[in-house]
Amino acid sequence: MAVRDGVIADVSEVRGDPPKGAVDLEGRTLMPGLIDAHVHVTSDVSRSPGFGPRAARSGEEPRPREVGYFVLAQTAGAFLRAGVTSVRDVGCYDDESIVLRHAFELGLLDGPRLFCCGRIVSATAPGGRLFGTMYREADGPWEMRKAVREQIRRGADFIKVMSTGARSVVREDPEPAQMTREELRAVVDEAHRMGLRVAAHAEGLDGARLAIEEGVDTIEHGLSLHRDPSLLEAMAEGGIVLVPTLTTFHDLAERFAPEYAPTLVDQAKRQLDEAYLTLGAARDAGVTLAMGFDSGPPGANVAELVRMVDGGLTAAAGVVAATAGSAAALGRSDLGEVAPGKAADLLVVDGDPYADARVLADASNLWLVLRDGRAVAGAALTGHAPARSVKRSSGNGVPSPCLALLAGAEQPVVL
Ligand SMILES: [Zn+2]
Repeated sequence: MAVRDGVIADVSEVRGDPPKGAVDLEGRTLMPGLIDAHVHVTSDVSRSPGFGPRAARSGEEPRPREVGYFVLAQTAGAFLRAGVTSVRDVGCYDDESIVLRHAFELGLLDGPRLFCCGRIVSATAPGGRLFGTMYREADGPWEMRKAVREQIRRGADFIKVMSTGARSVVREDPEPAQMTREELRAVVDEAHRMGLRVAAHAEGLDGARLAIEEGVDTIEHGLSLHRDPSLLEAMAEGGIVLVPTLTTFHDLAERFAPEYAPTLVDQAKRQLDEAYLTLGAARDAGVTLAMGFDSGPPGANVAELVRMVDGGLTAAAGVVAATAGSAAALGRSDLGEVAPGKAADLLVVDGDPYADARVLADASNLWLVLRDGRAVAGAALTGHAPARSVKRSSGNGVPSPCLALLAGAEQPVVL
């Protein structure tokens, strides 16, 4: 395989002597970098025990707002060390993900590709009081259009919209559609006309139906869809991607249950069962699935992939969801595959994730993480597994795959 200028230029069997600087992969698995299609990139680590600074104690000096940006920097590194080379942020406070994306663009630090929604477009609703700057409330088609335009002005890569209420807000009922058809249509039309995709938060069936009928590009959560197979068929036919976010239901029903209102915990337990039913039904209907962790801490994202496999996907199907499926959610056909013309966002893994997805959950199995063909993380870089010198081929005459680590962009990488 050859990589030029961060792009996979060729995939073919290596012949002849390996180029200078080549490293034998010694039977490791080469695969696309992981893509998390549903993340909240935020410096608020309350949902990420053990990550970031501990909460301030009474009497300590107030923590400056700007400290949060250092947490974001830690987050960026955590994603890469976990093999997550692309992240879709579906809502954060104070445009933090856009700030982080800016820092990446300036070369201030390494991180995954970051796709931002700006603020979540929602009808005026109780969630607006809880989520503050994460939301942009709007009502009526023209205000919806304005809300979309504001996100584009802000720097959004795509639009996130609440087609139903949220399971994490006591005074929101996630069952009915929270927006009217006219409002949702205005959001989709405005976003699509300007070339942006639309991700719809959809828990109850009516909101999911409206979102699918009005042509959104991804359904987030979508747990009710098993109740109406015709909607899953429509998604499969229309290329609408489902991001099941199983972990978030586990979080509310189990992990963070003591911190939530009991009614929400009971609701989440029901939703958890439904989410798994929908995962299976969507798979059977041929819906493209994507991996969305929707939880913390950053870097534990593979837990969602493992849950999708526990929920009935084969390990290989889970890996495809976490790579090509998530790339489809992003609308980025240049990501998520090892093929000519695709971006060289790659993982070199000890073990075979296509047979056992749990291999990816242990970061020490990630031997090398490449972004745009550049080594950004992995045991080979940290010295835990020093790069071995090139060995030419094994007894059966098949050359071992080898990797020439990029010294400069002009140097091809050969696997
Ligand atoms: Zn979410």
